[in-house]
Amino acid sequence: MTDVELTPEQQQVRDVARQFAEGELGDKIAPYDERHEFPHQIVAKLGPLGFLGVVVPEEFGGAGLDYVSYALIVEELCRGDASVGITMWAHNSLCANHIASFASPELKRRYLPDLTSGKVLGAWGLTEPGSGSDAAALATRAELRNGQWVLNGSKAFITNASVASTAVVMARSDPDRKSRGISAFVLEKGMPGFASGKPYRKLGLHASDTAELIFEDARVPAENLIGERGAGFVQAMQVLEGGRIAMAAMGVGIAQAALDQAVKYMKQRSAFGRTLAEFNGLQGMIADVATEVEVSRLLTLRAAHLKDTGRPAMHAAAMAKLFASETAMKAASKAVQLHGGAGYITEFPVERIFRDAKLTEIGEGTSEIQRLVIAREILQLT
Ligand SMILES: Cc1cc2nc3c(=O)[nH]c(=O)nc-3n(C[C@H](O)[C@H](O)[C@H](O)COP(=O)(O)OP(=O)(O)OC[C@H]3O[C@@H](n4cnc5c(N)ncnc54)[C@H](O)[C@@H]3O)c2cc1C
Repeated sequence: MTDVELTPEQQQVRDVARQFAEGELGDKIAPYDERHEFPHQIVAKLGPLGFLGVVVPEEFGGAGLDYVSYALIVEELCRGDASVGITMWAHNSLCANHIASFASPELKRRYLPDLTSGKVLGAWGLTEPGSGSDAAALATRAELRNGQWVLNGSKAFITNASVASTAVVMARSDPDRKSRGISAFVLEKGMPGFASGKPYRKLGLHASDTAELIFEDARVPAENLIGERGAGFVQAMQVLEGGRIAMAAMGVGIAQAALDQAVKYMKQRSAFGRTLAEFNGLQGMIADVATEVEVSRLLTLRAAHLKDTGRPAMHAAAMAKLFASETAMKAASKAVQLHGGAGYITEFPVERIFRDAKLTEIGEGTSEIQRLVIAREILQLT
């Protein structure tokens, strides 16, 4: 149904991503998930496909594609495996895109080609141990000393933190100015005082990397400030607009994967002399899930289209992210239910899909925060 709205180029991009996911992800990722291991060799294949600089302009080594194409790629990768999906889109939406959108031409030339080719991976640090939803309360300090920035503090729950060499980090440069006192910086591993922590053990997304970023008198060259001093929070909020579209696409991909598994199992499993597919109650369950997956996809592509056409997309991105992530959770739960006992053991992919789905309701702003964003716009509250 969605195909009607896609250009031949967008369909082609989606097909390449689907082919990659079917060939390289799914069952092949399961052992990495079991071992909590980052799949370096598989992620290395994303760069040559153009998937590590999807919306970055071609002059900086990116693919220069639109957000609709980007959402389709994220959906397909997450349908194959959400760990690889989040690795890819955190690198794209958050790190590379922040630099591509707001950094000086010199910083773009210095950092983007290595990010888009996949020579290095990127991370993006906004969340801290003491501030997540209330991001403007962040405490990491950036002080200008002898012509260089010195950062102190830490970032929590950062995707790609320990595998990335480049990170965009928000820190407080002007303590008296609240959100206008936050600036953004590009950091590189190897800068003195900058390190990552040990990866967390997580509920799901075991094959993705999540760790702390730590700054202990981390020394950052003055020119690594992104844009204006004090503009970091506003930049971060704009970056989150694209990030929420990607997280919505992640929800669609996970929900679709759950639906795929449910359909497959319903056709092969029999009870009371019939396949599960023949039970009316289960047919209703699958019809509801399929409908909600399609609504999620349309909301996501709508938000991407608004962004592509230069229109405000924050509200649409929040709606897409809210609906798609809750659909992912619901679809995964129903897919486990349809599998009965088999759904609860690790042999069947729905167990992993169920664990992975939960993150979509938390990352890039929780469901509660999306509802707040949506309600504020409807009620015209500031
Ligand atoms: C696997 C993973 C990967 C992540 N990757 C990144 C990353 O790459 N970069 C990054 O910067 N961050 C990342 N995060 C952090 C993520 O964005 C935050 O966890 C999320 O924004 C929530 O913040 P918090 O954990 O501090 O929860 P809190 O803000 O403490 O929220 C706790 C609860 O209170 C609710 N709540 C808070 N404020 C309100 C309110 N005003 N109204 C109603 N309810 C409210 C929340 O919805 C939630 O249910 C990641 C997190 C995880 C788990």
